[in-house]
Amino acid sequence: ALDGSTGEVVIDPDPATRADFEARRDAHLAAREAARAFRGKRVGVGDREVAVAANVGGTADLERAVDVAADGIGLFRTEFLFLDRDEAPTEEEQADIYRRAAAAFDQPVVIRTFDIGGDKPAPYLTAPTDEENPFLGVRGARLYPRERDLFADQVRAIVRATETGDPWLMLPMVSTLDEIRELMAVVDEIAADLIAREPGLRRPPVGVMVEVPSIALVADAVAEHVDFFSIGTNDLTQYTFAADRTNGALDHLQDPLHPAVLALCTFTRAAARRRGVSVSVCGLAAADPAGAALFAGMGIDKLSVAAASVNPIKATLSGLDPDRLGELVERCLAASSAAEVRALVGEVLESV
Ligand code: PEP
Ligand code: MG
Repeated sequence: ALDGSTGEVVIDPDPATRADFEARRDAHLAAREAARAFRGKRVGVGDREVAVAANVGGTADLERAVDVAADGIGLFRTEFLFLDRDEAPTEEEQADIYRRAAAAFDQPVVIRTFDIGGDKPAPYLTAPTDEENPFLGVRGARLYPRERDLFADQVRAIVRATETGDPWLMLPMVSTLDEIRELMAVVDEIAADLIAREPGLRRPPVGVMVEVPSIALVADAVAEHVDFFSIGTNDLTQYTFAADRTNGALDHLQDPLHPAVLALCTFTRAAARRRGVSVSVCGLAAADPAGAALFAGMGIDKLSVAAASVNPIKATLSGLDPDRLGELVERCLAASSAAEVRALVGEVLESV
């Protein structure tokens, strides 16, 4: 018996265990069916709208996101276009996919520039990637100064997609403001060159992922230079606890609802609000009803989740009592563990 939402596996389950797992499956399917009613609806908490966008990794995911009528794409993991092949995708090939993605939605399509390195190597990279600690190495945006041509091709492909819709360009794994400013200057130069030749194009909004604690801690300064933030709770948790996200022996250090990670999210939210910058959450925690409730309570503008979770999360958000969320967030930030946070949020979700 396997519960995909908890990762629990029971070998040769006895009848009582089977019945328990079957009841969980039935409840899950019933909730999913009920969530269909939210397809294409805009939801919110109180009078504040919270967009629920989709995370996609390729063209098949894109179709799923259209099927569930997601509020745009909150994270296009473009590295999947780069992996499992002998050479990088060309500008033309990428422009074609990004244009299709942008055209499929009347809301923003957030295209993350390639996050290669860490657990996602690519054979054609010229930069050395045989590192002892690849998750702490030359990963994501740290590769771009060494792979200028690959980065420039991708930026041009994203700028070209402004012709069909509203693509936003997002930089992954940034960790200092200097790095962000240097990359923004490169993006601006490439965009200006292309727009000078093709005046129908625009510079897309440019934002950063908040997935390294150093960025959350100086979010005020960063917010002056970017158009948006997206919090990647998967890596933010990994780097906050110094616990490799792929190491099962460290499961107890991988709960993104720990108050330490929530505190970094609230710093980011507060800085974004002061500077009028939008902020979303695109890590797995956004698809967890408890996480969705807390992020909505913090005032996050958008959650981005796998297509299958878009409407279930809309159902969760629309059932929340806005009057209870502010106090809930405060209590969770003061909690001593992720388990305590989950118990506190559980009380609020049960009464929905
Ligand atoms: C994250 O780190 O939370 C994130 C969304 O990016 P990825 O999972 O692709 O590293
Ligand atoms: Mg990440």
